[in-house]
Amino acid sequence: MKKATGVITRPDSLFPFPEFTADAGPAADDFGHIVGSRPLGVFAPPSVAALRDFVALVGPRGLPVTARGGGYSVYGQGQAEGGFVVELSALDEVRCAPATRTLTAGAGASWSEVVRTALAEGLTPPVLPDHLGGSVGGLLSTGGLGGSSHRHGLVADHVRELEVVTGAGDLVTCSRERRPDLFDAVLAGLGQCAVIVSATLELVPAPTLVRRFRLYHHSPGTFFADQRALARDDRFSHVCGQARPALGGTWDYMIEAVVPHTRQLPCDDTLLTGGLAHDRNTEEIENLSYEEFVRRMDRDERILRTTGEWQRPHPWLTLLLPEEAAAGFVPTVLADHAQSGLRACGVVQLRPLTSRTLRAPLLRRPPGDLLCLLSLMRTAPPGAPENVREAVAANRALYERARELGGVLHPTSALPMTCGDWRAHFGPAWETLTRAKNRYDPHSVLTRGYGLWP
Ligand SMILES: Cc1cc2nc3c(=O)[nH]c(=O)nc-3n(C[C@H](O)[C@H](O)[C@H](O)COP(=O)(O)OP(=O)(O)OC[C@H]3O[C@@H](n4cnc5c(N)ncnc54)[C@H](O)[C@@H]3O)c2cc1C
Repeated sequence: MKKATGVITRPDSLFPFPEFTADAGPAADDFGHIVGSRPLGVFAPPSVAALRDFVALVGPRGLPVTARGGGYSVYGQGQAEGGFVVELSALDEVRCAPATRTLTAGAGASWSEVVRTALAEGLTPPVLPDHLGGSVGGLLSTGGLGGSSHRHGLVADHVRELEVVTGAGDLVTCSRERRPDLFDAVLAGLGQCAVIVSATLELVPAPTLVRRFRLYHHSPGTFFADQRALARDDRFSHVCGQARPALGGTWDYMIEAVVPHTRQLPCDDTLLTGGLAHDRNTEEIENLSYEEFVRRMDRDERILRTTGEWQRPHPWLTLLLPEEAAAGFVPTVLADHAQSGLRACGVVQLRPLTSRTLRAPLLRRPPGDLLCLLSLMRTAPPGAPENVREAVAANRALYERARELGGVLHPTSALPMTCGDWRAHFGPAWETLTRAKNRYDPHSVLTRGYGLWP
């Protein structure tokens, strides 16, 4: 466990803010339960102006400031050792404008609330994350990937406008046309240049019903070939794969593919699954309401909360791989003794992506158009720090192997990264990010939990 150290004194004289509390509570921890920190306190701004005033006061004193949305970071990325966590749950207003097919959401609003408000108008964001419990600001700061990303890119790629408070304490509106350097530095920018206050998102008409296919493969070869085909063509609006433990210590693979239901009966399933090499005896096909489908993780979350898994440490690792390397790499990962915990309590997700659809420049990705997102979402037993340490070390080892194949880290992972690693991670974008950081966070106080700078 990476535990916080250091002498902490509360600078009372700085705080004319009644919304400030010295009791860090949940803000000293996160969903990962691996990194703990001791912030000086938590500030819960009741308004955008209060947030701006707070950052303007604290920034020049060089005290770390980190926004907290849903708290779903897994390795301290949302914590503020020796500084202030800004808890954004009060900035949660969500307004839909059906006439312009847009929705403006406060950064502290959850994706669940975004979906509820948009669906009330028959609309939806074109890309949604699997889990809707996180905050708008938190997801946009990492980019946001979903089942339709192979066609529509990141959640962040559908942001029309942002309102942010920069590290200099300025309230600024930015978009592709207005202050594009700031806009590009904030989306998938890991909270380095500004705190997102609100985001205006593009919406598209939502289907009422969807038809979901679960297609099982017994070999990684056919699975990856089919995922590749589905990422290239437009047959399915949502495609996401999983590796699942099978008997005898082996793994099976499953593609979840979804289309809006046209209500034409009988459905032409053979047309949709034509040319695919899955096991036709085990395929599962069902109709769901669109809302039931996008909220599919609610039930999983309820179950995991009941079993206690949701509250355990989560040493998760997510990597973006060149697609041609994934078919060879993934089976060796699953056979690796260091990853054996995945069989007992974990989910292995394999999401096909196409680089040409990913627009936010700070979302780093491997070369080539076809990519595979590998997420190892495992749970460690509670009260076993040795086990967590081993899992984090295994993550680091896997990351290094993936890098040799051209793989790139997804920054929501649980593994230690040096400043040098980050510089290499951002590659040619590092200079742009550094320039934006110097301009918009001149005191270098924002979101230090990633460790991008010394
Ligand atoms: C069960 C589960 C499922 C997930 N599924 C997906 C998925 O399908 N797709 C996907 O892309 N990700 C997924 N994630 C990852 C998750 O969406 C990201 O970690 C996201 O950043 C979490 O946001 P948060 O607000 O909940 O977390 P927080 O820990 O509060 O914030 C995450 C990071 O964003 C920063 N931040 C928060 N608010 C702001 C703001 N307003 N302005 C600037 N920076 C801010 C924080 O400082 C921190 O660095 C999943 C995570 C979990 C736990």
